[in-house]
Amino acid sequence: MEEIKNFIGGEFMPAVSGKWLSKECPATGKPYAKIPDSDTRDVEAAVRAARSAFPAWSAMPARERAKALRRLAILIEAHCAELAQAESIDSGKPLRVATQVDIPRSAYNFEFFADALTQFSSECHVTDGTAINYTVRSPLGVVGCISPWNLPLYLLTWKIAPALAAGNTVVAKPSEVTPMTAFLLARLVQEAEIPPGVLNIVHGTGAQAGDALVSHPEIAAISFTGSTRTGEHIARVTAPKFKKVSLEMGGKNPTIIFADCDFEAALDGALRAAFSNQGQICLCGSRIFVERPIYEKFKQALVDRTRGLKLGDPLEEAVDQGALVSRDHMEKVLSYISIAKEEGGKIIVGGSRARLTGRCERGYFVEPTIIEGLPSSSRINQEEIFGPVATLIPFDRESEVLEWANSTRYGLAASVWTQDLGRAHRVAGLLESGIVWVNCWMLRDLRTPFGGVKDSGVGREGGLEALRFFTEPKNICIRVGQ
Ligand code: NAD
Repeated sequence: MEEIKNFIGGEFMPAVSGKWLSKECPATGKPYAKIPDSDTRDVEAAVRAARSAFPAWSAMPARERAKALRRLAILIEAHCAELAQAESIDSGKPLRVATQVDIPRSAYNFEFFADALTQFSSECHVTDGTAINYTVRSPLGVVGCISPWNLPLYLLTWKIAPALAAGNTVVAKPSEVTPMTAFLLARLVQEAEIPPGVLNIVHGTGAQAGDALVSHPEIAAISFTGSTRTGEHIARVTAPKFKKVSLEMGGKNPTIIFADCDFEAALDGALRAAFSNQGQICLCGSRIFVERPIYEKFKQALVDRTRGLKLGDPLEEAVDQGALVSRDHMEKVLSYISIAKEEGGKIIVGGSRARLTGRCERGYFVEPTIIEGLPSSSRINQEEIFGPVATLIPFDRESEVLEWANSTRYGLAASVWTQDLGRAHRVAGLLESGIVWVNCWMLRDLRTPFGGVKDSGVGREGGLEALRFFTEPKNICIRVGQ
């Protein structure tokens, strides 16, 4: 059994309670690690360490802070193979995906914000010859970063990097479902000689460790990514304390395919959007709307391509679909497939738990599944499933598909496939969504605002938005004339 430890004040330690949580490998269904079951006492120690590290870290010249973050980025790159293997074992995602996407992106998060911090400038407003206003942005102090299990290191570092770059010190609470790479990151933080207490990592459940962090009076801001349900809870706890919050939450994203699309590109895009990371990405397109004239042809091609996805041991090179993250999550996804059947949906490919042999015989695998015949108002088309399950819905008119696409409580991301430039702009403008991709999906530029509308989010991450979130502006107005 591997033993994961908290990282507080530059030292590794178990939870004060001495209690542990057991962690399974989703591909094998076997326990392989234990993590500290932390509570308010561990969070208190982490906040204390972060508070003592704050004056020196925030006063460090930007160039020096940037250098420290770059050292960490280089170490992550150098340990890519080890981190990717750990991420794959911990989460069930294909090793190839962790190697090509998750870990390089985690390194890039630090590199990107190291550069961004040296370019971050404040605003100046000249007021009609009477005054000059200049805005100073200071770090907030000790901030809390809470991340989910689907892109464990990628999303944890997406929060930590801008928080540290802006001069804050951090207490991070990674998902208890996928704690391993956060633990390995802590070792690299030591190796990068980032001063003790600048980054602290407390492991444990959301209800105990997460809640202690959110409620702590000295935590100035919470940057959270996870489910809408937890986001609601965090909003409720933090509102009376007037903490700054950034909430990145659930999605039920539409993929809209018009008959005039580039067929092959749209097919590739819809397939990737539906099943990347076993459909466990907040940006996944789980509702695929296809314009009637190409519906049957598209459906057949999509079913064929879905059948061609290789599901198997995530550590094998050629595998496209790994395991779902946990038994609980697999059961949730399977229960939605049952609901789809009860609602009258027709499973046109997949639909069951996949049983492997050998090492993975007890693993949590679900076949990539496509369902048709359900109205936009059905539960399957309204609720976030967060697994390898997508629906296909034909449409006749632009206004109709827009109404359906916008009909959920969520509004995170959408993708639109058309060759008609006017329509691309029109539809993108009318979608209730924080992000719209046209003729692409998940094409990311880290400078762009990232986040959702409606129940998908409050605030934006990415580029200057993140640096603004993690700083407090103060405007100073100087009279210069009458
Ligand atoms: P979750 O809400 O269960 O957990 C997320 C994190 O919050 C975990 O670290 C958890 O321990 C913590 N947490 C849980 N209860 C808490 C509490 N009471 N107080 C403080 N912290 C608490 O979400 P999950 O199941 O880990 O992740 C899947 C969800 O995340 C999906 O809904 C997905 O759409 C969403 N997500 C959103 C984005 C985005 O950018 N919008 C990105 C990835 C995932």
